[in-house]
Amino acid sequence: MKFSIINRGDQQSTEMTNLFYQYAKQYQLVEDQDSPDLIISIGGDGTMLEAFHSNQHRLHKVAFLGIHTGHLGFYADWQPNELENLVSLIANEPLKTIEYPLLHVKIKTNDYQEINYLALNEFTVKSTEKTLVMKVKLNHQDFETFRGDGLCISTPSGSTGYNKSLGGALIHPSLESIQVSEMASINNRVYRTIGASLLLPKHHYIDLFPESDQEIRFTLDHLNFTMSNVYSIQGFVADEKILFARYRPFPFWNRVRDAFIGNEHR
Ligand code: NAP
Repeated sequence: MKFSIINRGDQQSTEMTNLFYQYAKQYQLVEDQDSPDLIISIGGDGTMLEAFHSNQHRLHKVAFLGIHTGHLGFYADWQPNELENLVSLIANEPLKTIEYPLLHVKIKTNDYQEINYLALNEFTVKSTEKTLVMKVKLNHQDFETFRGDGLCISTPSGSTGYNKSLGGALIHPSLESIQVSEMASINNRVYRTIGASLLLPKHHYIDLFPESDQEIRFTLDHLNFTMSNVYSIQGFVADEKILFARYRPFPFWNRVRDAFIGNEHR
């Protein structure tokens, strides 16, 4: 089992990384930065998002595992005090994985360029200044004209991130789907949007056509960038999936409970 580590860079994560290396030596695990079988993220969700984006060219060959050092750590299953037990499981147990769906985003520009992205959490589309106006199509059929701050397209595992703050539903990652949630849509006698989150299954497409000349701000998980010259933005469930290592069960709803309800409210 070849592993590599990415950590948040704070003191606790660095200490955990050093401790992991000590145990790894003891249990004869091999580090391989270029082609690991297992990527260990030590930090929070931001660290896992970074690990995902820097390894998205080899998703079919690698599994991810999160060790939690402070912060929320929705993707991090293991606590620092479980490190030795974890390393011994990695060394001695066969690697079991579970798959989570991803979002594929395709942006087309007015000069016929096409740019593709994969998101683990979500992709958001916002205007930089004025109200964002976009024609929305579902499966290539006209659906609505959106006016407002923007739209968030999230994966099931990302449904607990930005999407949750927008009032979207929490979706179990066994449902291969993407969710579209509105950000402050304008709804009155003149303008109308659906006003609810939409859940699109596999092989369904959402296409957004911004009014011309709008500068658009995009967020892709923890990254963000602006573009003008955008012709269309398409979102759909990706063919690729992310694999998470599971050395013990940690059901999604327990993860949701631990992250958002906590012990004191049960
Ligand atoms: P950030 O401020 O570093 O992170 C925002 C918070 O979201 C952190 O507590 C992070 O956990 C948590 N988070 C990330 N992915 C999550 C998930 N799948 N489920 C539950 N919580 C999750 O923000 P950033 O670096 O700009 O963006 C990273 C992510 O933060 C985005 O993908 C988005 O989901 C979320 N975000 C949320 C809002 C909002 O709710 N208004 C706004 C911007 C971004 P850790 O502390 O463990 O890293």
